[in-house]
Parts: sequence; structure tokens; C-alpha cells
Amino acid sequence: MKIYSIILAGLFLGATAFGADDVKRTFWDVKTKQPLVALTFDDGPDDNCLQLMELFKKEDVKATFFLVGKKVKEKPDIAKKIAEAGHELANHSYTHDLLIKKTPEEIKKEIVDTQNAVKEATGLEPKLLRAPNVKQDDNVLAVLKELNMKSIMASVSAADWDRKNSKDQIIEAVTAKTKAGDIIVMHSWRKETLEGMPEIIKRLKEKGFKFVTVSELISNWGK
Ligand SMILES: [Zn+2]
Repeated sequence: MKIYSIILAGLFLGATAFGADDVKRTFWDVKTKQPLVALTFDDGPDDNCLQLMELFKKEDVKATFFLVGKKVKEKPDIAKKIAEAGHELANHSYTHDLLIKKTPEEIKKEIVDTQNAVKEATGLEPKLLRAPNVKQDDNVLAVLKELNMKSIMASVSAADWDRKNSKDQIIEAVTAKTKAGDIIVMHSWRKETLEGMPEIIKRLKEKGFKFVTVSELISNWGK
């Protein structure tokens, strides 16, 4: 029994001796006791991102924007402003086509072309990908490994891609059960999400949460 415990302890220590970065590539959420959550916005850059950033500046919120490469090409100035405001820029493919329907070469092109578009616009290289429709496979993960990037899913969804959901339903979805370490997925193109954002921030602040980028949240793994 004693030996068994020692082996277990050894396994546990072995597992925790690695940072989260070394052992994991896909993150649905982050295991942390710190009162931190990550707001993430998919499908930009778009003009609504500017409106969000004004609010975030006032409310001391840092967020993560998963950008579509071809839109970065169209609106590089907005990508640059997001970066300059201290938010995290991340990769959401180049065309927003489903990556799981593509060959490994096509997947790599989707991701690398977006990396290049963001780099050209901002000088920064994203470290995170969210696959369109949060659908990935082993081919996507192999490319991410090669590029030393992480895959970010989400543990809380605003379900704001569904136009049937009202502003109040979006607010409720994002605030009712949110806990420390959650990664919240929303969309900057959805008007009701923008309108609900002041209330979302208010409610989550009342629960004691601070808003950090996904990479900062991951750096709090196990803390
Ligand atoms: Zn998307």
C-alpha cells in the first residue's frame, strides 16, 4: 500500500513537474484557483472590435481576438489597434473553412497564411489557434505542434452564433455558471453580444473575476 502511494505520488509529481505547455496542446479551460477568466472573440477583425476595445479600456479588461487571416488583410489597421491596446491576437484560419475537411498541406497553409497576415499587420506572431467551428483533428494538431502553437477551444459559449438567442440569453449563458479558469467564446460580429458586454463585465466583476488574455490564463495553470 505504501509503495503504491509512493508510485502514485511520483506519477503526480512527474505530471506536475512539466508545465501545462509541455504536456498539453488543446485547452478547453485552465485549471487554476485564481479568479481569472478569458473573454475571446472570433471572426474579426471588424469595426465592432474597436467599440469593444473602448469599453475594455474603461473596464480594465484584456481579451483575446481570434482573427480570420483574409479579414486581417482587409483591415490590418484594426488588427494593429487591437495589438496596441494590449489584447492578444490569435489565429482563426485564413478562410474560416472547416479545417477537418482539408488535407494536411491545406491546413498548414490556412494557419501559416494567417500567421503571416497578422505578422505583416502588427509585427506579432500568434501563439494560439481556434479552429473554425471549434472542430479539429490530428492533422490540425500535427501542424500546431510543428509551429509550436496551442489549440484553444472553450468551456463557456455565448451561443451568439445562433441568431435565435437574445441579448439577455447571451448575458445569461456567459455569466450564470462561469468559474475560475473558464475560456469564454463570443463573436464580435454579433450586435447583441456587443450590447450585452457592459452587463457581462459587470456581473463577472461582481463574482470577483478579472479578465486576462488566454496566454496569461494558461500561465496561471495549477496556481
Ligand atoms: Zn469563427
